Amino acid sequence: MINEYNAFLLIVVVGYFFRVASYLTISYTAWRIFYSQDSKYKSSKVLLKNRSFIPKIEITNSLVTLAIFSLSLGGLYLFRDYTRLYFDLSKFGLTYFFFQVVLLILIHDTWFYWVHRFMHIKIIYQYVHVIHHRSINPTPYAGLSFHPIEACLEGLIVPMIVFVIPLHHFSIFIWFVIMLLHVVYIHIGFEFMPRWWHKNNLTRWIITPLYHNIHHVPKSMRYNMGLYFIFWDKLMGTLKPDYHENFEKIVSRRGW
Ligand SMILES: [Zn+2]
Ligand SMILES: [Zn+2]
Repeated sequence: MINEYNAFLLIVVVGYFFRVASYLTISYTAWRIFYSQDSKYKSSKVLLKNRSFIPKIEITNSLVTLAIFSLSLGGLYLFRDYTRLYFDLSKFGLTYFFFQVVLLILIHDTWFYWVHRFMHIKIIYQYVHVIHHRSINPTPYAGLSFHPIEACLEGLIVPMIVFVIPLHHFSIFIWFVIMLLHVVYIHIGFEFMPRWWHKNNLTRWIITPLYHNIHHVPKSMRYNMGLYFIFWDKLMGTLKPDYHENFEKIVSRRGW
């Protein structure tokens, strides 16, 4: 007979296993594509120098972050009667289902931006956020390389929303996969998006590997704090003024 506590543990452990498997699959695939000796992307490396931080540490930190995320999401099971989680897709329809995914991304973008600004307060930075910034020249494994305190703050996002807004459990799953793909993508260290990407009226608002890599360079870490979109950086004056210029430079250098 499974009691509440054992069911919670099972959800956390199984959830953790799948999150780690997804994270390692996505980051290792990116690593193989971009960091192999004969990679065709070599000329699009953002920083033309050796990595300053070994991926092993980035992986260890990321596994701790995923454990915290799994506890946070698994914990919703214990409080399920107080949340607005629902399992019957027909309850609010398919349009609302897709709207939830978009809403989760937009709320997460806002939450991340302001937590990130908080992380850059000198004392917080020195003891907490510095872990993420040790990856001066980040790799695909750096996406979740956080101090546990930062991981806890980031992991609050779904529990904060699900007590207020009705969310289908599968929309949380889709958002999580998009989030994983996105954090690996922005830490890849290579700018491989097409030249038109930063000029097109829609795509120019989406953060690129170069955009986030600029944030990891010590002298420009007060810029480019966003996660998915450029909106908040633009609005709050934290967008690096020469970002578009640098995008053009890399595109010209790589020659394709
Ligand atoms: Zn930062
Ligand atoms: Zn980063």
